[in-house]
Amino acid sequence: MTLIAEPRTGFTTGLFVDGTWSDAVETFEDLNPATGEVLARVSHGSAADVDLAVRAARAALDGAWGDTPGVTRGVLLNRLADLVERDGEVLQRLEALDVGKPFAQPGMLDVPNAAATFRHFAGWADKAQGATIPTAGYLGTAKTHSYTVREPVGVIGAIIPWNTPLMIAAWKLGPALAAGNTVVVKPAEDAPLSILHLATLVQEAGFPAGVVNVVPGLGGTTGAALVAHPDVDKISFTGSPEVGRQIQKSAADTFKRVTLELGGKSPQIVCEDADVRAAVQGIAMGLFFNQGEVCAAGTRILVHRSHYENVVDALAQATEAQVLGDPFDARTTMGALVNAKQKQRVADYVEKGKAEGARLVAGGGEVDGPGFFVRPTIFADVDNASTIAREEIFGPVGAVIPFDTVEEALAIANDTEYGLAATIWTRDVSLAHTMAAKVRAGAVWVNGWAAIDPALPWGGMKSSGIGRELGCSGILANTEEKVVTIVLQGRFLRYSRGDWPNAPRKS
Ligand code: NAD
Repeated sequence: MTLIAEPRTGFTTGLFVDGTWSDAVETFEDLNPATGEVLARVSHGSAADVDLAVRAARAALDGAWGDTPGVTRGVLLNRLADLVERDGEVLQRLEALDVGKPFAQPGMLDVPNAAATFRHFAGWADKAQGATIPTAGYLGTAKTHSYTVREPVGVIGAIIPWNTPLMIAAWKLGPALAAGNTVVVKPAEDAPLSILHLATLVQEAGFPAGVVNVVPGLGGTTGAALVAHPDVDKISFTGSPEVGRQIQKSAADTFKRVTLELGGKSPQIVCEDADVRAAVQGIAMGLFFNQGEVCAAGTRILVHRSHYENVVDALAQATEAQVLGDPFDARTTMGALVNAKQKQRVADYVEKGKAEGARLVAGGGEVDGPGFFVRPTIFADVDNASTIAREEIFGPVGAVIPFDTVEEALAIANDTEYGLAATIWTRDVSLAHTMAAKVRAGAVWVNGWAAIDPALPWGGMKSSGIGRELGCSGILANTEEKVVTIVLQGRFLRYSRGDWPNAPRKS
């Protein structure tokens, strides 16, 4: 395929450590998903490079950054938001080239969301407050004064996936920097370019050296070195459940704090009273946006039997209407999957769906030729116990399942190891609240898919993750709470001689 927008030369591909750019000894190939050709050769950070980055982050924390007031951190974050907006088109282009998504999509989501995230957390930077806490004096007669403060966790390792790299990097950097931490970012090997450009903006915004470091590389080497590093206080990870599990085990050795944002198998529930037209549009968006490579993709579509065949037909039409192709062609609605492995993975699931007896109503095959394209696909009459309803495919494949009662819909929705998001399509306010209370998911959307916002907490239940990022929860997750107690008068613990037999006698 000849791309309309050929890659420009001169991507940023080095290591950004302690405010300085350098090239690593080794490089890895970053491919263009739409052509399968090499887009860039990117520095592969070694364990020694990770160590230098962590040392720089620690030095910055112990140095001037540790004394930088919140209001100044907020000014820097606002400047970074301005620069993301200034370079919006560059970032949009990098994201489309590197991930394979249609050019318009990062302009709608990734870039504005990243800028909004930095702005939101600029506002938090001088507002992470503690509390004064009255105590009852149960253990003595002393009068005390106690208060809490929120301090930065320290050096944070941020490990990023390839599907929405710029946005997820902002989700980790925004709250971490607002709360006064320093960060070592490890972008995904399949899509590091937008984050490396972001590092140039961090530098231009005027963050002191070492506050943000970016060390690209492979997961098993660079990523693992960051997780194992004894001087990293917290790992903030977004990616697959398999790697999340490994990270939590490895982090246990050094008692690192861990936030895990993992996969999903999110339900979209179309109730009997739903606006079916709006629901179908939202479901198609939830399935096909970003080629279905979205953690919160609404891949299990539960439809009340009264609308079942209508919705299946409408989804089949919406699927056939998708235009696969060059991410830079304005007619393209769906780009390429990120790599050959992902293409094979999705193709294997489609075969599995057929073999397990689901009804293929649209799509269902690989696309020959260069680049990593697959056809968007809809299966109907899917058994929620089958593989395509249980496992995260991370591609444009939907599984439609009928239901008769609200109770049955909720049971199917919750019969999954995941719990990231759920969408409910209904016009009945009371039903919406009742169902929202019963769905086990970190985010429930009513009459819309992916209503995300930097002010709202984000994270999953069950195998979808541990902890929350964004909003106030993002600040809490990036701070340690410390309590300070001052004994104003009297003694705090009073022992009688009987309680403490070896106590020295009063002379
Ligand atoms: P992945 O787990 O393969 O990789 C994620 C990151 O981890 C990459 O930077 C990778 O290099 C690194 N990594 C891999 N092995 C490592 C190791 N042993 N130690 C340390 N780091 C390691 O995931 P992916 O394929 O990039 O992303 C897809 C997954 O991410 C899907 O499961 C998706 O649902 C999930 N995801 C979740 C969210 C969310 O917010 N919950 C958002 C986006 C993506």
